[in-house]
Amino acid sequence: MRCQHCGYEGPRSEFKRDMDPVYTSASPGMRVRACPRCNQNSFFSRMDERDEDEEELKVLCLQIQDAINAGELKEVPHLRRKMIELNEGLDMEWVGKFVRFIDSKMRKSQG
Ligand SMILES: [Zn+2]
Repeated sequence: MRCQHCGYEGPRSEFKRDMDPVYTSASPGMRVRACPRCNQNSFFSRMDERDEDEEELKVLCLQIQDAINAGELKEVPHLRRKMIELNEGLDMEWVGKFVRFIDSKMRKSQG
């Protein structure tokens, strides 16, 4: 993605999402991300990010499954939160189902 101010181009992971409600409520279809170079906020359309979000969700899904299979549950709540955050606006059904699956696994491991 590309900074709208200084033109810096870099992978999405370098552009930190600004979750300030000032932005999220003012522009629901947009995402605000800060440029790693000039630190200014750029606006990106959620629709443009949709495919990338889906890919990232799939990766997270695999990471969580691996963690559960390996019995390493420490990272799971963190990954689960990331998944829910990414699914916000996408509202993909399988993600909701998967989150419920994680919850049942986590409950079992605690009890
Ligand atoms: Zn910039």
